[in-house]
Amino acid sequence: MPDRVLATLGVGANLGDARAAVRKAVQDLAALPQTEWRASSSLYTSAPLDADGPDYVNAVVQVWTALSPDALLAALQAIEQQAGRLRPYRNAPRTLDLDILLYGELQLTRSDLHIPHPRMWQRAFVVMPLAEIAPHMVSAAQMQSLAGQSVRRLDA
Ligand code: ADP
Ligand code: MG
Repeated sequence: MPDRVLATLGVGANLGDARAAVRKAVQDLAALPQTEWRASSSLYTSAPLDADGPDYVNAVVQVWTALSPDALLAALQAIEQQAGRLRPYRNAPRTLDLDILLYGELQLTRSDLHIPHPRMWQRAFVVMPLAEIAPHMVSAAQMQSLAGQSVRRLDA
């Protein structure tokens, strides 16, 4: 596959069987067209940040993809829809949230698409799973700055 880019994707859920939803989404991401799976983190759990509802389950997945950022976003939104995602209000509890965290070195600031994801480095539930599968992408200082956030790795 020519011109493939390493995309780093965030997966989160906190409604229903959140672990099952995250596991299913990880499989769906690995099966995206024009895409080859690279790595998936363990599942992690944490209390909601600036939001309400049950605890979150999160994971990070990396894939090599020939999909454009827009095609990738559309594919993620289609997977969210299949999982029954509703958006009743901002930061509402969700059956499945899929975010593009990084797309190679791309920097994109559009109203509908921000890459890198603007809040990823402030979120331990993103940075910890990322450090598990791509330790070279996370500095000790970045980990240290998130030490106050309680995120627990779930047993496999
Ligand atoms: P959030 O993930 O911030 O809690 P949503 O999942 O409801 O919120 O996403 C709302 C919108 O965020 C989407 O319609 C999408 O267009 C936009 N968005 C902006 N940047 C990104 C990104 N990097 N990954 C996924 N969605 C993004
Ligand atoms: Mg989202």
